[in-house]
Amino acid sequence: MPEKREILDLDELRKLRLADEGYVVITTGKQATIHKVNAECVSSTNFRLKVIINERKQGSYFWVDGVATAAREFPGAKRCRVCKPEVLLVDPSTFER
Ligand SMILES: [Zn+2]
Repeated sequence: MPEKREILDLDELRKLRLADEGYVVITTGKQATIHKVNAECVSSTNFRLKVIINERKQGSYFWVDGVATAAREFPGAKRCRVCKPEVLLVDPSTFER
């Protein structure tokens, strides 16, 4: 079963990063970007700002079990050009521009 869940606190983010499985999708308005779960672009500083201080008004963090799930759950999702999740497996045109 494909899995997706919203990450609501830092403790959860920390656990997911320790488990080192799946991917993180960060939404900003209608745009979703897929990151590796342990990428430096998924920082606790940004998470705290976006999810806790700004109360998810401008975007949210989600965990997904794979890039395919991310693509299905977040139509038009782009792969981060910094951490390049699944660079060899997916059409390069799906990279964030
Ligand atoms: Zn990234």
